[in-house]
Amino acid sequence: MAATTARKRFDVIINESGCRSCDICVRFCPTSVLASAPPLRKAKVVNIDACTGCNLCKLLCPEWAVEVQVKT
Ligand code: SF4
Ligand code: SF4
Repeated sequence: MAATTARKRFDVIINESGCRSCDICVRFCPTSVLASAPPLRKAKVVNIDACTGCNLCKLLCPEWAVEVQVKT
């Protein structure tokens, strides 16, 4: 069945060298887009399709290591 409503898609980019593994973005993302990746527990995108573009991860990151972009 064809989709009837266009839904915006997003890219979440983690600057791995800037990430300090604090886990804040992982814990606060309302739709579980992010996870802590072993062995250094740096943030990693694991479910980009669930991203609503709320920007919470970007706003809460103390290291400014997260970027949220509308997919073109
Ligand atoms: S909030 Fe920033 S520093 Fe903390 S885990 Fe996420 S990307 Fe890394
Ligand atoms: S923009 Fe919002 S929904 Fe998307 S990864 Fe960040 S906190 Fe999660």
